[in-house]
Amino acid sequence: MRGHPNSIYARDVEYVLHPVTNARKHEEIGPIVIDRGEGIYVYDDLGNRYIEALAGLWSVAVGFGEKRLVEAASRQMSKLPYYHTFSHKTNEPSVELAERLVKMTPARLRRAFFTNSGSEANDSVIKMVWYYNNARGLRQKKKFISRTNAYHGITIASGSLTGLPANQRDFDLPFVPVRHVTCPHYYRFAEPGETEEAFADRLAAELEATILEEGPDTVAAFIGEPLMGAGGVLPPPATYWEKIQAVCRRHDVLIVADEVINGFGRLGTMFACDYYGIDSDIMVLSKQITSSYQPLAAVMISHELYEGIADNSGKIGTFGHGFTASGHPVPAAVALENLDIIEEKNLVENARRVGEVMQDELRKLADHPLVGEVRGVGLIAGVELVADKATKAKFNPVGKVGAQVFSRAHEHGLIIRAIGDTIAFCPPLIITEDQVRDMVERFRVTLDETAAMVR
Ligand code: PLP
Repeated sequence: MRGHPNSIYARDVEYVLHPVTNARKHEEIGPIVIDRGEGIYVYDDLGNRYIEALAGLWSVAVGFGEKRLVEAASRQMSKLPYYHTFSHKTNEPSVELAERLVKMTPARLRRAFFTNSGSEANDSVIKMVWYYNNARGLRQKKKFISRTNAYHGITIASGSLTGLPANQRDFDLPFVPVRHVTCPHYYRFAEPGETEEAFADRLAAELEATILEEGPDTVAAFIGEPLMGAGGVLPPPATYWEKIQAVCRRHDVLIVADEVINGFGRLGTMFACDYYGIDSDIMVLSKQITSSYQPLAAVMISHELYEGIADNSGKIGTFGHGFTASGHPVPAAVALENLDIIEEKNLVENARRVGEVMQDELRKLADHPLVGEVRGVGLIAGVELVADKATKAKFNPVGKVGAQVFSRAHEHGLIIRAIGDTIAFCPPLIITEDQVRDMVERFRVTLDETAAMVR
């Protein structure tokens, strides 16, 4: 079937440009066709079953094949399949979702603005912050500070905040004014003998020096994923967030928590801001908000931001920003049902409890000859593979061994993500202890086979 010119493989290669894919390699090896899903598993068109250890793209919290979400979408589509929220129009699901999000997020956050994707949400953040600072008469205060290895999306603005070369190279990014400070990864960037606290002190000092160098009257906001995801699953060192927040507050720099991966239970708390004690001015939510059954993101903003934006819209006549699908009733209805499931099935508590098992099981691999570091919180983890455990030397080229592990894992019915040579785990929040053990065992076998090839 693969060779047939009318096969889905041939037609995919003929007609599709795939995101985040080496197009020439794709022409050679063709696609893997995912056909259906059930719980933590997906099946390809040949009937092979895989544990989806990344929950799609860090996002299918309630698992695949959840009929309640299908029915919620169907009910809403029958009643009102679409309406917009421009010019004073509204619809019930989007209001109910905004109210629910305001009530469940930290108290400072008081309004929700909806977009289709995390990237558009972060673009909206930049525009809202600029609009707000213009309204405050702070017309110079426009720069953002982000971190190396950060991932905040791929549009021109959000892709500027992202700190990963692969998303910027040959796209002429960054385009908006942004500085990237050091990624808070203790294993890679702490100095020999430095404690986590001392490392956090150094990073906070670097942030403050950067703000002072740029001029505090030009720096608008600091954006960070509480626990960095797509850059390699990087939990910050102890005391990092309290120190970063203190620096931002001293210089009237807004704090943006990008919870697109972390939000809705991933770390075993509803939000990572709860876990790390972050009191942000803006919070960005997506992915697990609908378990990605529908595209949706939300920008949560503080009362102060809302007031500034509202005043300015009154003054100049409009808040001239919004998408055709901002407040779309169908994703909103799916999000409401999805949040009901997360609550009814105690999935946040499951992430905490089963997450401990996952972290313990993965840490048992720390002695493996390929493993440099095992890290993570709750149901998100990264296993960094190294050429030399003692020196932490990376493989040459970086990513080659990660790619081998990724392909070999498929043969063991396991879909993971390779970020360079870091293997990421972020399974659906419904995963059980037995399934976690099965997942880690498949990974262990994969690692053993890879080690035999590499050495
Ligand atoms: N922010 C974070 C932290 C993300 O992980 C992602 C996507 O992975 C985004 C933003 C961008 O979201 P989207 O792919 O929906 O544009």
